[in-house]
Amino acid sequence: MAAARLVPPCTAETSEAHELRAEVRRFLAEQLAAGAFTPTADAWLCGWDEDFTAALAERGWLGMTVPVAYGGHGRSFLERFVVTEELLAAGAPVAAHWIADRQIVPSLLKYGTEFQKTEFLPKIAGGTCFFGIGMSEPDSGSDLASVRTRAERVDGGWRLTGTKVWTSGAHLAHAFIALARTAPVDPAHRHAGLSQFIVDLRGPGVEIRPIVSMNGAHHFNEVLLDGAFVPDEMVFGSIGAGWEQVTSELAFERSGPERFLSTFVLLDACAETIASQRVPRSDDLGRLVARVAGLHQMSSAVAGALQRHEPADVPAAVVKVLGTTTEGDIAEYAHLMMDDDAGQQFSDMANAAVDQRPGFTLRGGTNEVLRGVIARGLGIR
Ligand SMILES: Cc1cc2nc3c(=O)[nH]c(=O)nc-3n(C[C@H](O)[C@H](O)[C@H](O)COP(=O)(O)OP(=O)(O)OC[C@H]3O[C@@H](n4cnc5c(N)ncnc54)[C@H](O)[C@@H]3O)c2cc1C
Repeated sequence: MAAARLVPPCTAETSEAHELRAEVRRFLAEQLAAGAFTPTADAWLCGWDEDFTAALAERGWLGMTVPVAYGGHGRSFLERFVVTEELLAAGAPVAAHWIADRQIVPSLLKYGTEFQKTEFLPKIAGGTCFFGIGMSEPDSGSDLASVRTRAERVDGGWRLTGTKVWTSGAHLAHAFIALARTAPVDPAHRHAGLSQFIVDLRGPGVEIRPIVSMNGAHHFNEVLLDGAFVPDEMVFGSIGAGWEQVTSELAFERSGPERFLSTFVLLDACAETIASQRVPRSDDLGRLVARVAGLHQMSSAVAGALQRHEPADVPAAVVKVLGTTTEGDIAEYAHLMMDDDAGQQFSDMANAAVDQRPGFTLRGGTNEVLRGVIARGLGIR
């Protein structure tokens, strides 16, 4: 029996995409020269810089796939891929707009009402509206069907009660899309009775409590919803269709270059440290570069599939498992390479990457769970 193809065939980069890549590199070089940012590992989660986001919006590099009618730029998924890949490779601070631009945009385009698209898409493309993800709960991560946050019908809308956790950037974002139960669990159909709501994170009935990481950083939060009111116009998609909607959102959440480039800036620093003979040469550098090069091909192939509206859940899972494992291996490689001769800046970056490492293979679906998705895609589960 021939094995199923796990990742779509690669598509060659067009000359336009090549030129766009060069344009982003020029912009990044200018920004670095002006001291606008310091490259860091995992900057798409930790590097919240609204000025940098505004500079990207000014160049038309936010909301790239949003139609012009909604304030976007009507560009292709592959063009967005090129821009985001360059930003990530440079360790640029893109966290403020990341979630909104990556997954709220495609979700709004697919499921949003005309009112919601008009309300949010121009602001996201303009870099003035930031979103969080309200899926995980204290007892519900991999198994999202078990969420306990409930939404009760009231006059003119819904009241949400429950606790969301690990909500990245909720303390700075304007809104998140919360997954909640709108009907009691039916053991025979656990995925039924779930719905999504756009919740104003600065509104009444919403309390945001910081969760401070072991290195003292604050990007996680616990979000307590205490009867928070969501008007009917902020119901996202259809009541009861939350599971299907979340699943489609996850394909966008899992497939992008942020799933293999979170520590690329550190790999670059390793090469630089070896080239300047501050630390000895090592074969492992080449092995890691080769893995990243392969992942670039696979991830751009997935971007091509999404552009063609092909189902991409399984290939996205493959890229995420291999990519996030590589990100962690780069962190470990750099950390082992670290010594007094490597320099303070290198050591700071390597330490930060090691601190972030546990999250790479957890966020957006753990490797164990994704291996299950891949096994199902191969027809062996
Ligand atoms: C850096 C970071 C940022 C995050 N940001 C957000 C966010 O903004 N919004 C949000 O909603 N969530 C966020 N999360 C939460 C993340 O999505 C969850 O941590 C993840 O889905 C796992 O859920 P859990 O932590 O509850 O672990 P659990 O689901 O309890 O899993 C515990 C362990 O059991 C294993 N396991 C569970 N089920 C299976 C299975 N069926 N087969 C095999 N093994 C299994 C898992 O792989 C894991 O090792 C973030 C997490 C991290 C680390």
